[in-house]
Amino acid sequence: MPDLHRRRLVSFLGAGLCLAVPAVALAEGGPEHAEPAPRPRPKPKAKPAHAAATPAADPHAAAAPAGHAAQPAVPPEEALARLMNGNARYVDGYSVHPHGDAPRRLQVSAGQSPFAVVLACADSRVAPELIFDQGLGDLFVIRVAGNVVDDAVLASIEYAVIHLGSTLVMTLGHERCGAVKATIEALAGRGSPDDAGTRIGALAALITPAVRAVPAGTADTLDAAVSLNAAQAAAEVFAGSRPLRTRVLAGQLKIVAARYDLDDGRVTPTKTQQA
Ligand SMILES: [Zn+2]
Repeated sequence: MPDLHRRRLVSFLGAGLCLAVPAVALAEGGPEHAEPAPRPRPKPKAKPAHAAATPAADPHAAAAPAGHAAQPAVPPEEALARLMNGNARYVDGYSVHPHGDAPRRLQVSAGQSPFAVVLACADSRVAPELIFDQGLGDLFVIRVAGNVVDDAVLASIEYAVIHLGSTLVMTLGHERCGAVKATIEALAGRGSPDDAGTRIGALAALITPAVRAVPAGTADTLDAAVSLNAAQAAAEVFAGSRPLRTRVLAGQLKIVAARYDLDDGRVTPTKTQQA
């Protein structure tokens, strides 16, 4: 149907423009993107246990430049600390839900400089802005079942690091991941008949190396495969992109694999990608 095709084309072009506009703005060095207005101070519902870790206490939170990878807006270690502090607030029930109000929306409408990229599973229980207690403009989030890396995912990560100045990439697996579980079942010859005729097998193929890497005799094969799958994604980002690899080796970028616990909400880094 021509109309449907056109809508899809318009939608695709619209998505492309979203990517292209900030890149042009950065290249031109427009003053409106060089120094965003100070962020409004979040108002916690109760005094947080991690008071020192609130975004308002972060010296970089108020003056993060639009960002270029050559001069990271936030050092990689600090970006990781911000993520982990936000997760600690979430776990303890002291989320401050920062950067979700109208002033922040207006501020980031002029340009974005997310301090971290999170590649997470599409699972409805693993929402990065919630589990890291972040808001608009803070995270560049890519979600796909099984948090796998293909060309589109890798290109998205490259864009965020190179053009938006993100200095941390986290590949985030999670407890009891259905995509990893389905891959284990399929490899054991117990695949669902409902998957016949679907592209689910293509997704499982990307997860298969991690499942096969689980040592024989491992007590919890699924959980081990989840962690190996996240580590595999981090390794693929590192190996698959020379510009990102160069930044890692120069200390300008950190690529970290992590596991999210569905029960207690805790994110645990499991492996840092290095040369
Ligand atoms: Zn999952």
